[in-house]
Amino acid sequence: MGNDLHGPEGMPEGKGLLIVYTGPGKGKTTCALGTAFRAVGQGLRVLMVQFIKGSWHYGELDAAKMLGDDKFEIRPMGRGFVKVGGAEADPEDVRLCEQAWEFGREKIYGEEYDLVVLDEINYVISYKMLDAGRVVSALRARPERIHVICTGRSAHPSLIEAADLVTEMKEIKHPYTKGILAQRGIDY
Ligand code: ATP
Ligand code: MG
Repeated sequence: MGNDLHGPEGMPEGKGLLIVYTGPGKGKTTCALGTAFRAVGQGLRVLMVQFIKGSWHYGELDAAKMLGDDKFEIRPMGRGFVKVGGAEADPEDVRLCEQAWEFGREKIYGEEYDLVVLDEINYVISYKMLDAGRVVSALRARPERIHVICTGRSAHPSLIEAADLVTEMKEIKHPYTKGILAQRGIDY
């Protein structure tokens, strides 16, 4: 069948999937990046909106530029904050978060991109910096052919319920526990 219009189960292709990569193990953002790489190879246009990452330099920013901004665009829209347990979120972070969501939502509805990755959106929802109900209903009602990937720990149950594909990364081992620091090209 190959590139036939119908997949193995006779389902028509072209249905946008809502995908969630969550859990405490490493590999959520890199899994989204791997999917983006595959999508670009198929001629799909990809946008990644980063809710937390700010000015810190990640390898994927340069790699996306090598593919071309018209194929894979990454927008860091946070400021690299780390939420300290229990404390109220800084209003500036909430504002940046709202801005990132508004931007991502607009791009999903504008159908400019075939795949939109909302990187770390699960994390900001879990810290109540974004309302889960609002996000999930907007994602449910999105244009049908648009694929969306949501990454980050502690995905909200309502997002998991709405999703077509959910994978939970489970930590078996992480070098961090042996005191090995983040490695260039692997962690950033
Ligand atoms: P990656 O971006 O490598 O795919 P991730 O998206 O699954 O990781 P995040 O929760 O976004 O993980 O964490 C971001 C950073 O923390 C990354 O540099 C990652 O290597 C590191 N990290 C991820 N999981 C763990 C862990 N279980 N213990 C310590 N550090 C971790
Ligand atoms: Mg991540």
